[in-house]
Amino acid sequence: MILYSTRSSRHTASSTQAVLKGIAPDGGLYTPISFADLKVDVGSLLNMSAVEISAEVIGRLLDDFTREEMHSLIEAAYADKFETPDLTPVEKVGSDFVLELFRGPTSAFKDVALSVLPRLITAAKAKLGVDEEIVILTATSGDTGKAALEGFHDVEGTRIVVFYPDGGVSDVQKAQMVTQAGGNVGVCAVRGNFDDAQTGVKNIFADDEQNRWAAAAGARLSSANSINIGRLAPQVAYYFKAYCDLVLRGEIRLGEPVNFIVPTGNFGDILAGEYARRMGLPVAKLVCASNANNVLTDFINTGVYDRRREFYKTASPSMDILVSSNLERYLFLASGCDFDLVSKLMAQLKDEGMYTAPQSLMDEMREHFWAGCADDARALAAIGEVWRRHGYLMDTHTAVAWAVMEDFEAQVDNGWANVVLSTASPYKFSRDVLSAICDDKPESGFGAMDLLHQLTEVPVPAPLAALRDMAPRFNDCVDRTDMLDYVKRTIY
Ligand SMILES: *Cc1c(COP(=O)(O)O)cnc(C)c1O
Repeated sequence: MILYSTRSSRHTASSTQAVLKGIAPDGGLYTPISFADLKVDVGSLLNMSAVEISAEVIGRLLDDFTREEMHSLIEAAYADKFETPDLTPVEKVGSDFVLELFRGPTSAFKDVALSVLPRLITAAKAKLGVDEEIVILTATSGDTGKAALEGFHDVEGTRIVVFYPDGGVSDVQKAQMVTQAGGNVGVCAVRGNFDDAQTGVKNIFADDEQNRWAAAAGARLSSANSINIGRLAPQVAYYFKAYCDLVLRGEIRLGEPVNFIVPTGNFGDILAGEYARRMGLPVAKLVCASNANNVLTDFINTGVYDRRREFYKTASPSMDILVSSNLERYLFLASGCDFDLVSKLMAQLKDEGMYTAPQSLMDEMREHFWAGCADDARALAAIGEVWRRHGYLMDTHTAVAWAVMEDFEAQVDNGWANVVLSTASPYKFSRDVLSAICDDKPESGFGAMDLLHQLTEVPVPAPLAALRDMAPRFNDCVDRTDMLDYVKRTIY
């Protein structure tokens, strides 16, 4: 199968090429243009393990790999890394369901894809005969950096450097990163906020001289963010897996549609749900849940995407995003693969900060999507209520989705089962979660973790519990202008 850039039919790539390139040369994102040949017979997955389902689904999307190659790659990627062999278990909470995507090594859903991506990259290098070392540069507001470090550390032929805003991540998140093991990793704070760190990384990518420097050093710069098709594909699998679980438990009949409610930031997770739908999964609605940064809610309800608005720092920081990059892939699919339209809208977003999508595109989107938002107060209230009523503890991101599900049920109520995607362990955001179930809010994240555990008896994920006894390995802090120096110093 050939993948196309969303911005012009001239830029195509095989799946291995797309995994290595990440973004297309015209700035577009690689995507299939037809899903007709990618259909999966859901019934045939019912007796498969989580690893087998993943191999089957990812193999359809990235078809340069044989079934055997993909199976052994996925098996190795997840082996002994997740709390359960099930990878992504489904819990029943009241009359609804929670799909737990946070049982991986860093307790955030990004583990599902970032465990696989490094292996896809090494396998793609081997297939294409690329010798250069792949150097991953990532700016993080918290979750991505640690998940990427955990995925790439000690993977042969790769190096990874992660930048985070000094003082801009929680102390648990910081401890997760600065204690990272591995001989091929670097972690560094940047003076400034997340945007400064992000801009610094983008500048390094955009600078021809740096790219020449990297080439001379036998390296190729790449990124681990969700524009890479190799990060999207592994996420499609858990939609199928969750559906199979519900059928096997007799909660739904095979063929019956379900709603998925997705806490959304960059639109990667929910787009994976749309890919699953196009590949034949019976999906009723994909519910896009936003926090106070509700640019997507407005877009889906009005057709106007406008990033010129106040940016809020919320208790669900991984969803604090005003430009959701993966929406571009959706605009492309929903417009019937209109390269010119997508190029035009993306140029408008860049130059004017907004665009209006055509009515026909919005009609298509609203047939399959519903959107809502919930601010911190509502999310925290949902955590408290679900804990008291059902004894189930949610993190702040999942809670946004739960609150939006309640609006969806009140306003739409199509009668199908609801599956809320849960994207982080409550212990990653212990202080806010704790404040939702009692009046205490200890200063330190670790103090909050202890108290939360005492109160709820929900087990603390072992890697998080182990953190406070680990010595930091990295304590560098640089100005934005010195980030490249740090990269050079750390890895060569
Ligand atoms: C990244 C992240 C999200 C948002 O996912 P997108 O694919 O960017 O929409 C939600 N919750 C958590 C905890 C995350 O880390």
